[in-house]
Amino acid sequence: MHEYSVVSSLIELCEEHAQKNNAIRIEKIIVGIGERSGMDKSLFLSAFETFKEESKVCREAILDIIDEKVELTCKKCGYVFIPDKIEYGICPNCKNSDLEITKGREMNLLSLEMIGEDK
Ligand SMILES: [Zn+2]
Repeated sequence: MHEYSVVSSLIELCEEHAQKNNAIRIEKIIVGIGERSGMDKSLFLSAFETFKEESKVCREAILDIIDEKVELTCKKCGYVFIPDKIEYGICPNCKNSDLEITKGREMNLLSLEMIGEDK
């Protein structure tokens, strides 16, 4: 499943951050999941619950998921906008329909709360 590989790399990324910041434990992870990412939030959460058991730093972490809206960029005039509907539209600026999804297709690590060695 797609969610599992994404969660697995998310945990790796968290571990890297923890190491860089001399943190021994991660308390909270906030990720943004794009509405066009094709990822299932509940699957993502259950995958996280499974994977975090195997990670020393993430074991106690709480995962927060924020929905990220799709953002489109017009390929013709470069206008960036958030569509009202999930369907592809046309550029409100120049009426061109050649649009590119520039946000909302992936998972982004937004924030980490870590506990350092001294505490
Ligand atoms: Zn345009």
